[in-house]
Amino acid sequence: MVGTKDRSRIVSLVENYSKDNGPVNVVEDIMLSDSFEELPTPGDQGKTRAFLKIQEGCNSYCSYCIIPYARGPVRSRLPENVLKAAEEMVAQGFKELVLTGIHIGAYGQDLPGRDMDLAWLVNRLAKVPGLKRLRLGSVEPHDINFALINAVADHGNVCRHLHIPLQSGDDRILEKMKRRYNTHEFERLITVICDNIDGVAITSDVIVGFPGETEEMFLNTMRTVARARFAGIHVFKYSPRKGTPAAEYTDQISAQDKESRSKRLIDLGKELSHNFAFQQVGRIVEVLVEQPHEQDLELWEGHTDTYLKVIFPGDQSLKGEIVRVELIGTEESLLKGIII
Ligand code: SF4
Repeated sequence: MVGTKDRSRIVSLVENYSKDNGPVNVVEDIMLSDSFEELPTPGDQGKTRAFLKIQEGCNSYCSYCIIPYARGPVRSRLPENVLKAAEEMVAQGFKELVLTGIHIGAYGQDLPGRDMDLAWLVNRLAKVPGLKRLRLGSVEPHDINFALINAVADHGNVCRHLHIPLQSGDDRILEKMKRRYNTHEFERLITVICDNIDGVAITSDVIVGFPGETEEMFLNTMRTVARARFAGIHVFKYSPRKGTPAAEYTDQISAQDKESRSKRLIDLGKELSHNFAFQQVGRIVEVLVEQPHEQDLELWEGHTDTYLKVIFPGDQSLKGEIVRVELIGTEESLLKGIII
């Protein structure tokens, strides 16, 4: 089997194998893959933030998405290997670990005889000695339960930031997308999260111009997004992926409509992120110092646990440190501060 770790050697591996065995098909069916492929722990990335992959694949088959076909079913990394990798990353000096994967909310569901899920893993990882910050990657709405909300709320080193893809704010489109929630359930979830995690930032992904999306449906999305008061959104114009059900739908949306909807939603997203940032002015926050701001060696930038970018006077010696910063103003969604 040739995995990600051997991709640079694919040509020589095939040539050597063919020399001994004659021409063969050495490409395995990804749908038959049932285990997580261990990858080496990444080396020095500036000792600020490292990505910790906890699973691969997805079983959800949203109608627009090629990933379940291309990446196969959910394969979770064994918890002992996740914990070991986390400890190694902390020992290397990384302050923040970001849990990544294709569908991290599905963590554990393929591990036989093990009663564990994402919340369980977060609770374990939060206790890794020396880990300053643990950030969750994107989590699907239907995977967020009270146990996960509590895991974020209960540990000071778990970032109060959840990225929850909404994709559409119209129920008919959500159904066509084969998403597993409606807007009422999504909004209820946002309320529960905000009620239980003090100061949480929620960001999201939204697709515009999905087949069959009328102007009225798009306006429903605008309203849902506005009510959710996201700290930020990523807007995607729908584009058909060959091999997915949605690519075959006959009611595709014109490029012009996609463009216009995308612009309006991006503007709304900017307004929401500006509002969220503005509400933080006057607060004292912890910032992970990452890099000089726009090559200016006297002005540095980093992120809060709520993933707000902050700029402040600093110097190289602070890189990789977590500093306390008083927020004194905004420049659109960028916060300005001073170290205290
Ligand atoms: S959008 Fe996400 S949840 Fe849906 S099929 Fe793709 S990877 Fe899975």
